[in-house]
Amino acid sequence: MTEIWGTTQVVGVIGHPVRHSFSPPMQNAALAALGLDWVYVPFDSAPADLPTALAGLRAAGVVGLNATIPHKQALLPLVTVATAEAQLTGTVNTVHFDGDQIVGDSTDGPGFVTGLAAAGITVEGRRVVLLGAGGSARAVGVALVKAGAERVLIANRTVPRAAELAALLNGLAPGVANASDLHRLDPELAGAELIVNTTAVGMHPDSHAQPVSLPALRSHCAVVDIIYNPARTRLLQEAALQGVKTLNGVPMLVHQGALSLQRWTGCAPPVALMQQVLERELAKRAAG
Ligand code: NAP
Repeated sequence: MTEIWGTTQVVGVIGHPVRHSFSPPMQNAALAALGLDWVYVPFDSAPADLPTALAGLRAAGVVGLNATIPHKQALLPLVTVATAEAQLTGTVNTVHFDGDQIVGDSTDGPGFVTGLAAAGITVEGRRVVLLGAGGSARAVGVALVKAGAERVLIANRTVPRAAELAALLNGLAPGVANASDLHRLDPELAGAELIVNTTAVGMHPDSHAQPVSLPALRSHCAVVDIIYNPARTRLLQEAALQGVKTLNGVPMLVHQGALSLQRWTGCAPPVALMQQVLERELAKRAAG
C-alpha cells in the first residue's frame, strides 16, 4: 500500500459506476515504479453531479482524471481547453488540471493504434471493417483514418449512428468510410484486412455472444476486439480457429492509460509493467 502524505499528488478515474475499473491497480503500480509520491483513486460521480465533482476535485488540488462510462461525452463542454483529438471524437477520457486550465484530451484512439503497432498490426493501406458506432468507435475510427486505413466500413445495429460516424471520417479523408448494418456483412468481412469490434457484444457477463459470425477470412486479416473482459471473446476465438492474428482490448487500455499518465506526470510510462498488472488483475477477476 502506498504511503499517503501531505505531499502526495492525487490523480484518479471518474465514472458511474467505477468499482469495475481496472485502472487503479494499473496506474498505481506505474506511479510506484516511477518512484513518484502520487496516488490514483476511483471517484464515483452520478451524471447529474459531474460538474460539481469536477469543480470540487480541481479545487482540492487533484492533478488529473481519467473518465469512464458514462462521462466521456458530458465532460467535453466542461473543460476549458479541448485537444484536437477530444474535439474530433466528441469525447474526453483524460482531464488535466493544468494551472488555470482544465484540459480535456482523448487518448483512446492513439492508445488503440499504439497497441496495434506494439502487436505488429499495421493500419496503413488496409481495408477495415469497424463493428460498432458508439463512443469508442468514434475514437477508434478517427485513429484508423489518421493511421492511413484505405477504407473503413462501419457496421452498426443502429445504422444512422454508423452513417454519422462515416460522415465524420469522410470529413478527415473524403470517401474513406461507408456505413452498413450488422447483417449481410459476409463479403465485406471476407475481403477485410482488419476487423475491429467496438460493440459491447461479447463483454462479460454476456461472453457467449458475438456481434457477427466470421466467414472464411483472408490469411493476412487481423481481428481485434477492444473488449478486455473476457480476455478472449467468442469473436476472437472464432478468428483464432482460422489461424489469423488476433488482439484483445488490453493493449488499448494500457496505452490509453500510459498516455494519460505521461500527460499528468511528464514521465515515460512503464508500459510493460502496466500490461503485466492489468493481465494479472483480469486473470484474478476471471477466476472469481
Ligand atoms: P457505447 O458508446 O455504449 O457503444 C456501444 C456499441 O455497442 C454501439 O455501437 C451499440 O450499437 C453496440 N451494441 C450494444 N449492444 C448491442 C447489441 N445487443 N447488438 C449489437 N450491437 C450492440 O459503448 P463504448 O464506450 O463504445 O464501449 C463499447 C465496448 O468497448 C465495451 O465493451 C467497452 O468495454 C469497450 N471499451 C474498451 C476500451 C479499451 O481500452 N480496451 C475502451 C473503451 C471501451 P447501437 O449504436 O445500435 O446501440
